[in-house]
Amino acid sequence: MEKLWSPWRSKYIDSFKPGAVKEKGCLFCRELNEDNDEKNFIVHRSERSIIMMNLFPYNSGHLMVVPKQHASTFNELEEETCVECMRNMKLAMNIITDAIHPHGFNVGANIGRIAGAGIEDHIHFHIVPRWTGDSNFMPIINDVKVISEAMEDTYKKLMASLQKCLNEMNC
Ligand SMILES: [Zn+2]
Repeated sequence: MEKLWSPWRSKYIDSFKPGAVKEKGCLFCRELNEDNDEKNFIVHRSERSIIMMNLFPYNSGHLMVVPKQHASTFNELEEETCVECMRNMKLAMNIITDAIHPHGFNVGANIGRIAGAGIEDHIHFHIVPRWTGDSNFMPIINDVKVISEAMEDTYKKLMASLQKCLNEMNC
């Protein structure tokens, strides 16, 4: 697997350095409880989990499935929540496929800071679309403004595919 180099993530990595100002509490729990899904780039809410865009994406259309339960390990997650997370990962892939036609995906979770988890207290699953040659062209978009405009664009595209994919999956 070729690694993606996403320079705009340096802003995110800086927020973990000593002395960085941190907002209190869990970011996911905060956004789950907020009533502003568009601002928080939340694509879909179901009973036990949500699908949202990653604010510091590795690639265009990078989605995450986040359980509503604040838990750091698989063992702590309720069984039905695990099942629903998997269903939402399938839905997220279908939405991405319908909206932006990737050639492949990286799917998974980073458990623990050493494995690269940014938010290690609240388990979440990454769905990263991949295109042939993307590790070559992504560094060109090294501009936070371009990234955020691109994210709003992608959010609209994903939302336009949501209902169709929900219907197809009968959920
Ligand atoms: Zn949380």
